[in-house]
Amino acid sequence: MKLKQLEMTLQKLAGFPEPRAALEQYQTPAPLAARLLYDALMQGDIGGKVVCDLGSGTGVLAIGASLLGAAAVKAVEIDAGAVAVAQENSAKAGAAVEFIIADVRDRDVPGRVGPCDTVLMNPPFGAQEAHADRPFIDCALAIAPVTWGIFNAGSLPFVTAYTEGRARIAGTTGGSFPIRRTFAFHTKDVLEIGVEILRLERTAR
Ligand code: SAH
Repeated sequence: MKLKQLEMTLQKLAGFPEPRAALEQYQTPAPLAARLLYDALMQGDIGGKVVCDLGSGTGVLAIGASLLGAAAVKAVEIDAGAVAVAQENSAKAGAAVEFIIADVRDRDVPGRVGPCDTVLMNPPFGAQEAHADRPFIDCALAIAPVTWGIFNAGSLPFVTAYTEGRARIAGTTGGSFPIRRTFAFHTKDVLEIGVEILRLERTAR
């Protein structure tokens, strides 16, 4: 599937019916998701691989990975309502994704998911709850040797320090994440958030 076609397919997926601010439920915009997925594909992290999407929301990254030829895709999400939407999105897009309703902070999640080759994630940036992305990083490193994550622009020093001795940052790409007015505390119709796509390679277990 070509990049443009992937982007158009992801664009058609249903969004969060009632986004929950506390869970930082922001669907990754299709152009940004397609770019991350394509970059990961080109680096050999998707095709024929077992992929896991942590905090899968409406399924954008998981579905994209399946459409790009992952051998198997698992998706972990805390919100059962979002999983219902993601399941419908997955079926409509012709993807195959195994959804697991779980909290990534639970220590049994890596065991339930099983070892994977690649983790994809757009974790909460910690706007509602400080350091909300840390359990995602910990869980990702427990599950797979390679992780692609979307972080707030400027997160590189934090992620580098937080994963020191456990992973190295093997790639960074800048991007932008347009957030439409979603919650009452949003004051603009659209706010462009600068983001960093980081590729982490596990160095130790
Ligand atoms: N991956 C999706 C959603 C990103 S929004 C996309 O790219 O569009 C972040 C997602 O993480 C939300 O769906 C939210 O419900 C989920 N989430 C937040 N905290 C979580 C936790 N502790 N465990 C599992 N999922 C969580």
